[in-house]
Amino acid sequence: MSKKILVTQPALPPLEEFVPYLEKIWDNKWLTNNGPFHEQFEKELAEYLGVKYISVFSNGTLALITALQALRITGEVITTPFSFVATTHSLWWNNIKPVFVDIDDKNYNVDPSKIEAAITPQTTAIMPVHVYGNPCDVEEIQRIADIYGLRVIYDAAHAFAVRKDGQSVMNWGDLSILSFHATKVFNTIEGGAIVCQDEKTKQRIDLLKNFGFRNETTVIEPGINAKMNELQAAYGSLQLKYVDSYIAKRLQSAKLYDELLKDTPGITCMKVEEGVSHTYPYYPVRVNALEYGMTRDELYFKLQEYDIFGRRYFYPLISDFPTYKGLPSASASNLPVATQVSKEIVCLPMYANLEAEDIVRICSLINELQAR
Ligand SMILES: *Cc1c(COP(=O)(O)O)cnc(C)c1O
Repeated sequence: MSKKILVTQPALPPLEEFVPYLEKIWDNKWLTNNGPFHEQFEKELAEYLGVKYISVFSNGTLALITALQALRITGEVITTPFSFVATTHSLWWNNIKPVFVDIDDKNYNVDPSKIEAAITPQTTAIMPVHVYGNPCDVEEIQRIADIYGLRVIYDAAHAFAVRKDGQSVMNWGDLSILSFHATKVFNTIEGGAIVCQDEKTKQRIDLLKNFGFRNETTVIEPGINAKMNELQAAYGSLQLKYVDSYIAKRLQSAKLYDELLKDTPGITCMKVEEGVSHTYPYYPVRVNALEYGMTRDELYFKLQEYDIFGRRYFYPLISDFPTYKGLPSASASNLPVATQVSKEIVCLPMYANLEAEDIVRICSLINELQAR
């Protein structure tokens, strides 16, 4: 038996460095509800990311759901079928009808040229995803949103620390949502955040994540409990000291994969656009069955026989899940590119502590399988 290589592995800071943080929490006896670590972590995060206002959450899904509430989004929202299912679930939890639009073949994000045809009098917002950390065409999406008076809420769960032309991608759109789940580039075990552009919105978000309490006696609307606790915030604060090293290792790994797979017939690696500083939350490759000699599924299962566990992100499409399948926009004929990409893509193992020798083993195997 060879060593098992899983698609991901969380990056943890040194345990002994976390102990002083815990001691502080034990001294404070303040575990949640806007404690000192919560406050400190929000400040540090805003500075690190280069954004003005951020509100941290207990997880990314509750941040998505709350973001829609914060802007009072109703009716229909244009979104992508090529994402993690939480993107669309957040609409469902707000009684909003998702309208799926096809994706771009290169960056796997919602194709802006197909958005206008999906707008109806009920449309109130666009919810795109920066898939795999590839920035959406933010300028074009904003141009369309401005013409039709729509809000833009980015699911930026993959885009932690991603910059475009030197600026955080989170400075585009009305709101951006982050996830700090264990599997992400930056984790607080579970966690998430909403980035917004003004203080008033930040206050509204803070209130919504705490039951709607404005003060001791006034509850202004039915908020939820989505607060980040002090242990998560303290851990996040410590993680921030290490995240640049995590990202550097990911970039190194991506470079090695790129190099070892560049001549493999039928395997196409992801291209990072000019001007983007990427963080490689995933390492997706496209498998062209005719050129490679195996379908994506055949390769995916074959790799498992050698203890290499990729992940078919994103397959099935969200639009293929029972809850959403019946929607008119969910048909494969409306989503030809997403349908094709979903059949051809597989994410290879990628995490901060992935060893170079493991990448060599994975790529040698992929190359050998092709040669056969
Ligand atoms: C991880 C993820 C989420 C959900 O975040 P959680 O913190 O796990 O709730 C939402 N959208 C996308 C695109 C994700 O990858």
